[in-house]
Amino acid sequence: MARNIDGTEISRVMRAEMAQQVAELLAQGIIPGLSVVLVGNNPASQAYVASKTRACEALGMRGQTLNLPEEVSQEELFSVIDRLNQDPAVHGILVQLPLPAHLPYKAVLEHIDPDKDVDGFHPRNAGLAFVGDPRAFIPCTPAGILEMLRRENISTRGRHVVIVGRSLIVSKPLASLLMAPGPDATVTLTHRHTPDLASFTRQADILIVAVGKQNLITRDMVKPGVVVIDVGQNRVEDPGSARGFRMVGDVDFDGVSQVAEAITPVPGGVGPMTITMLLANTLQAARQSAQARK
Ligand code: NAP
Repeated sequence: MARNIDGTEISRVMRAEMAQQVAELLAQGIIPGLSVVLVGNNPASQAYVASKTRACEALGMRGQTLNLPEEVSQEELFSVIDRLNQDPAVHGILVQLPLPAHLPYKAVLEHIDPDKDVDGFHPRNAGLAFVGDPRAFIPCTPAGILEMLRRENISTRGRHVVIVGRSLIVSKPLASLLMAPGPDATVTLTHRHTPDLASFTRQADILIVAVGKQNLITRDMVKPGVVVIDVGQNRVEDPGSARGFRMVGDVDFDGVSQVAEAITPVPGGVGPMTITMLLANTLQAARQSAQARK
């Protein structure tokens, strides 16, 4: 039976370490501050944003949410971002995705000051991360997965990591980080047009799945002893639960657990790590801004 990789516990330890670092900044008169811009009333986005700002406040950081109406214009949104870009008390800025269709998300992300881009989605940060520059803000989900593997003593060196999905926010940066000197993995990236997906997933020493389809990966698609990281977050109806739904990943957890060495649960795996790395990036932004002022 697979060992559970407990993202909640790893996050608890990391957040306790970060609370120390926040205290050191507070002693220098710096309150690390994250501002989250939320457009519209999507309940899932509202819940994500609330958990991000709550996590900031729990560490003694400043977490602020700016709620904008669904019909906000691009100009109005840009002027809000301009104000945050110029505010020295704001170290990190995050625009919650997805945005309503009338707002061009790429232009919006490019409008954020790259020095405050704690999501790491600005092309400058993506480029810096690609060339291995330590000034880059690394997108939070890939960074969280790497940190999780490191803290669980799961080496990636020389191992075959198969990633399912090729998104810009998870899979592509993850592939680039894993193949870099240090992690030293051999990486295969697969996607919707990959024929016979199982012939690739069965080769994985470490399998990372970031698609958004419940039960995409079943027991017959993995080799015994594999380490499985399930990034997927899918809502399934559950009349028995208070919210009427529950979250599941992309992997058939019960089936795959019978053959895997280790596996992340959903919830309680990658999700908490993503928020923890957002806190880490905000701390990094606050430190870099303090350095720049010296
Ligand atoms: P995305 O941008 O929608 O990308 C999904 C990827 O899956 C695409 O590259 C797509 O391929 C690929 N795909 C779709 N069907 C496939 C199939 N049958 N076989 C192989 N590949 C297939 O999604 P994302 O933003 O990366 O997110 C993926 C999942 O992770 C979602 O459930 C999301 O909610 C979750 N997520 C969780 C966290 C967390 O913190 N836990 C963070 C981010 C995302 P094409 O490119 O060919 O279309």
